[in-house]
Amino acid sequence: MSVLIYIESANNKIKKSAYEVASYASAIAEKLSTSVTATVIGDVENSEIMSLAKYGVSKAVHVNNDKLKNFANQAYASVIAEIAKKEQANVIVLSNSLSGKALAPRIAIKLNAGIVDGALALPEINADKFIVRKTAFSSKAFAYVELSSAIKVISLNPNAYEIVKKAVDLTIEAYNPEVRDRDLKAVIKEISQVSNKVSLADADIVVSAGRGLKGPENWGMIEELANLLGAATACSKPVSDAGWRPHSEHVGQTGLAISPNLYIAIGISGAIQHLAGVSSSKTIVVINKDPEAPFFKVADYGIIGDAFEIVPKIIQELKSL
Ligand code: FAD
Repeated sequence: MSVLIYIESANNKIKKSAYEVASYASAIAEKLSTSVTATVIGDVENSEIMSLAKYGVSKAVHVNNDKLKNFANQAYASVIAEIAKKEQANVIVLSNSLSGKALAPRIAIKLNAGIVDGALALPEINADKFIVRKTAFSSKAFAYVELSSAIKVISLNPNAYEIVKKAVDLTIEAYNPEVRDRDLKAVIKEISQVSNKVSLADADIVVSAGRGLKGPENWGMIEELANLLGAATACSKPVSDAGWRPHSEHVGQTGLAISPNLYIAIGISGAIQHLAGVSSSKTIVVINKDPEAPFFKVADYGIIGDAFEIVPKIIQELKSL
């Protein structure tokens, strides 16, 4: 019995969300009196893998196979499921990132496991009950899902669980499973980074703007504010539909669901479809000139006023720090 995690990496570096997954899995392993094994796929240096020892991971199975250089959901799911069987894992945890969303159900099917996607907190584990909290009905409610299957797959929402240090000894095992060609039908050939901007899915802080900005020519101040805060930029659906911003920035029910520590919404009304993707942010700051804007109902801090006056003032303040 063990807890298995999948470690996501980009440019051979382990992602922040993977340390969240390690910390979360380590807390589950402690409750179950077992240990955490990590699956690392790709050309990640041993020194980088060793960093997992600080977060309660005692074994890493490293698969560095040329066929798996690029993400392929079927092939990765097969490898992770195979390692889960080899390690007799009964809980498998991964991030509810874009790749995690593709992998988790495939792994669950291969292992005949129950699944909770988008977990928000540690499961309640007592006697033979294993209950995981997640959001439901477009983040309007919580669902408490009981996993009664022998094997359980959990995908953890990014930023839902804090990274917690717990130093252990870690051993790395190289593993080279057979990769079937039929699993390589859909492979991402190349990922090219278009900018050095912070990735929206992993960002701690997100500066987001809506139709209140009037046009794409006004996004300079949003980008400047985001740069000063080390934040990612996001937008509402009509903004990306109009081509003011790329679709990759669209958050909400039909866009990316995010839960950063700080979400700053500028000139966004707060329609329920928008809130569905952002309401689990830890702190929400809303800047809107309409005091009746629905976003204020879920805001932790609200500024009623014109974004074109307020945002430059915030930028000026930040620059003077
Ligand atoms: P508006 O609703 O036009 O709001 C603009 C806001 O800016 C207003 O509150 C206004 O007071 C404020 N404002 C104007 N000028 C200024 C100023 N100078 N300074 C400060 N504030 C100002 N939307 C999403 O965002 N994400 C989704 O995933 C999504 N999915 C959808 C799915 C479905 C099936 C449907 C039907 C809709 C979906 N929508 C989604 C659209 C959603 O219903 C809203 O229409 C949309 O979120 C509104 O975007 P907005 O707030 O940018 O624009």
